[in-house]
This record gives sequence, C-alpha cells and structure tokens, in this order.
Amino acid sequence: MTKKIAILPGDGIGPEIVNETIKVLDALRSGFGLNVETEQGLIGGAAYDATGTPFPEATLKLAQDADAILLGAVGGPKWEPLDYALRPERGLLGLRAGLELFANLRPALLYPQLLDASTLKADVVSNLDLMIIRELTGGIYFGKPRGRRINDSNKREGYNTLVYSESEISRIAHIGFQIARKRQKRLCSIDKANVLECTELWREVVIEVGKEYPDVALSHMYVDNAAMQLVRNPKQFDVMLTDNLFGDILSDCAAMLTGSIGMLPSASLDKNGKGMYEPIHGSAPDIAGRNVANPIATVLSLAMLLRYSFDDDATATHIEQAIQAALDAGCRTADIYSEGTRKVSTTEMGDAIVSALLARKS
Ligand code: NAD
Repeated sequence: MTKKIAILPGDGIGPEIVNETIKVLDALRSGFGLNVETEQGLIGGAAYDATGTPFPEATLKLAQDADAILLGAVGGPKWEPLDYALRPERGLLGLRAGLELFANLRPALLYPQLLDASTLKADVVSNLDLMIIRELTGGIYFGKPRGRRINDSNKREGYNTLVYSESEISRIAHIGFQIARKRQKRLCSIDKANVLECTELWREVVIEVGKEYPDVALSHMYVDNAAMQLVRNPKQFDVMLTDNLFGDILSDCAAMLTGSIGMLPSASLDKNGKGMYEPIHGSAPDIAGRNVANPIATVLSLAMLLRYSFDDDATATHIEQAIQAALDAGCRTADIYSEGTRKVSTTEMGDAIVSALLARKS
C-alpha cells in the first residue's frame, strides 16, 4: 500500500534543506521502487504569513492523515515580536501535542570523515553511535501545579512539579526496549532515583517493563554520573532512556560530541510508531536563502522515518551509505568544511547524495 508523508518545510533554511531531501526521496521512488506519496503543508512563520496562525487546522489534518511527517525548521526574527500564541514554535508544540508524540529519539553519530569536528579527543569519540530516547510530553515541563507566587515571608518564589504516571513511564520504556532491540540490545535508563521519588518510580517501572525484553541488557545510571560519562567515555552507551528534563540536557550534550549541528536528525514518535522527523537544528536565519546550509540532518531524518515508521531498514541504510559516499568524495558544506575538502552548496550536497544513491543501484 502507498504510504503518505506530510512534508512541512517551515521557515528560514527549512525549505532549502527539505528541497534536497525531496530530491533524495524522488531518487528512491524512481530508482529503488519506494512506494510513497507526499503532500506539503504550512507550519510556523510561513503558515502565520499565509493564514494568520502558525498551526492551521489543515496542517493538523494533513499530519493526522499521513503515515509520517517530515519537518524542516520553524522560527526567525521576523516573528519574534508576535504574541506567544502566534509564534512559529507554537506550530511545533501543537503538532507534538495533537499527535501525542511522546517519544523523542536523538541519535548522536560521528562520521569518521568528520572526526576533527568534535572538540573531544579522537579516540574518545571515533565511531561514536548512540541513541538518546527522551520522554517528550510529560515530566516537569508539563507538571502542575506550576507558577510563581509570593510566599509567607513575602518573598517571590517559583515552583514546578515533576510528575510521571506509571503508564507514561511504561510506554516510553517499551519504545526504549524496542529500539534497543534494533541496535546492540543494551539499554541504560537514566534517573535520579536516590533523590527524587518520581524517578524512583521511573526505575521501578522500567525494570518491570524490562522483564518483557529478556534479550535486552538493562542498566541504570544516575543523571549526574551519566553527564560525566557522556564526555568521559560516550562509547560505553548504546541506547539511553530518560525523562523530559534530563533528556533535554543530555541529548544536546551528546549532539555536541559529534561537533556538527547540521548532521543530526531526530524523531518524535507516538504509541503506534507514527512519527515526526526533523533535524535537531533550527531555522538558521543567519544563513537562510544563501544556498549554504547543510541538508544532511534532514536527509538523515528521512532515513530515520523509513527505518522507524515504515520499518524499511534497507532503504534507510542506502541513504546513510550515500551520505557517507558524498563525504568520502570530499563534499562539505561550509559548516563542516576543513582544509583539503571541497566546499559545496546546499544543492550541490543534495546532488552528490542523489548521485551516490543512484550509483548504488547500478
Ligand atoms: P539554529 O539551530 O537555527 O542555528 C544555530 C547556528 O547553527 C547558526 O549559526 C546556524 O547558521 C547554524 N546552523 C543550524 N543549522 C545549520 C545547517 N543545517 N547548516 C549549517 N549551519 C547550520 O538555532 P538558533 O539560531 O538558536 O535559532 C534560530 C531560529 O530557529 C529561532 O527562531 C529558534 O526559535 C528556531 N529553532 C527552531 C527549532 C525547530 O524548528 N525544531 C529548533 C531550534 C531553534
């Protein structure tokens, strides 16, 4: 059956990097028999300009009807003066909430060709390939009560609530174990169970869910130690599972191990594996419209889409290897350029990936 991908280019470099990804998708359709159809929609500032809202009803419907969503990026200085409710980022939050995308997958993979881009020593990060799974719709970012008040001593105070129900923990744990099964079958759950009751429950539920996955080796680590281990010896991890707050921080730390924001994709999944896929970077208004942005994170987001929502490992691997081939050929966009390589534009990088892909066919 033909699967449908909703494509939401968004703002800034969004349309440029998404265009290159569509070229890759077209090559997969014509050269590899990939059976997908696409439909484009508006989100973020582009949607606000066209319709007066960053998250039009039509976009929610398109996303709901599609089997998966590919997003560029949203935001930019043009829309910063707008009310919070009309800001481009509301479009993203609306999609996450509207589709219940509670599982955020953030791979951190260092390509051997880009070893010099990391600020860490080569032997610490070479061949780094880890996956952080972050709970995205619960925890302290959403817990109530929350707010600011004046306390009994007439001083200002702020407060938030860290809360997770057993079912919220269990559903993200299942995703963690299932992803671990597709990788090295090792899952490290990150918590602060020695101090926070909520994460004590987190650990308890993860252990219970783990009984259904006896083939996956489960370990636990306190978040402070995990932060330290990520920069000391990141290759000890395969899949890390963690809550919303810890995941927010650890996934950015892991991303920087690879040294290049333009190379990393991400996925946000619902309970059926339907997902939204996007690069981890933003709309990069400083370079938008100049044909210099790195499209690789978005092309890799398509590979993740095929692997995790369409269960098509073979095509995902074709894309990843085509990117490796383009890098091997010396192609580098400005953000990953180093001496001795060839500086290429956004479109040239897209073309190099497409020709590497088609070369794999013949
Ligand atoms: P950013 O990620 O857009 O840019 C940070 C730096 O990285 C910039 O110098 C940019 O030029 C560079 N960069 C980012 N992606 C690149 C790529 N593919 N190739 C080459 N260089 C790249 O973060 P920011 O500047 O803090 O935010 C800009 C806008 O993006 C803001 O409006 C912010 O709200 C929004 N934003 C959106 C998302 C999203 O859509 N998911 C995420 C983060 C930020």
